[in-house]
Amino acid sequence: MNVYFILPIKVVSELNKAGHEHWAKTANRRKQHRFMGKLMTSGLIKTKWDGQPITVIFTRLMGKGGRKFDDDNLSSSMKAIRDGVADGLEINDNDSRVTWKYEQVKDVMHGVKVTFTEREEEMPKKINLAGRRFGRLVALYPTGERKNGQVVWHCRCDCGNEIDVRSGNLISGNSTSCGCYMRERAAEANIVHGMNRREETHPVYRTWCHMLYRCENSKDTHYKDYGAHGIKVCAEWHDPQVFIE
Ligand SMILES: [Zn+2]
Repeated sequence: MNVYFILPIKVVSELNKAGHEHWAKTANRRKQHRFMGKLMTSGLIKTKWDGQPITVIFTRLMGKGGRKFDDDNLSSSMKAIRDGVADGLEINDNDSRVTWKYEQVKDVMHGVKVTFTEREEEMPKKINLAGRRFGRLVALYPTGERKNGQVVWHCRCDCGNEIDVRSGNLISGNSTSCGCYMRERAAEANIVHGMNRREETHPVYRTWCHMLYRCENSKDTHYKDYGAHGIKVCAEWHDPQVFIE
């Protein structure tokens, strides 16, 4: 998730407001900002959010000649919009799944850009994986590098190769070898069938593919005449070798 919208709002300093604006005008403006934040969030963001931790970044587009706000002033001047975003997400503004951030940049226009991004999980940073095995890989030592906020570990594969893998991929089981496992599987598949390479496609192998598709792939144009009627390929014929023989 990386979505944003821009509200055409000129954010004014909370510090200056008190003196220059009547309280009724201030209250009305805040109400407007909150409403706009809610409207955009509920319309554009709510359905895209699966409840996973996110960071919401409010970027003040300060125009070309705009003056920078200090941090406190920056966050308080955008509080009404933040409340609106919380309304739109149907959460409290202290919900632990959402982190609020405030930034400001010079831009040709005035406005507030509201960006929604997935929050990087901090957990894997602290886990010591040294010596732990993940499939064929053994984590040796953490490199200085970080990717997506995760430590990249130097690992040795059982085949002798050494590679760098980020902690999340080790822990999740996404990476279990240097790539040699997949290469072996692919080579094996080629030896067994010897026919999934284009240049030597066995004619019966094609028939077999079509048969399987007709019966078991609901997207096949002939599926309605076969699979949809309960016509199935028997278990042995799932192996093209057996079918061809
Ligand atoms: Zn390997």
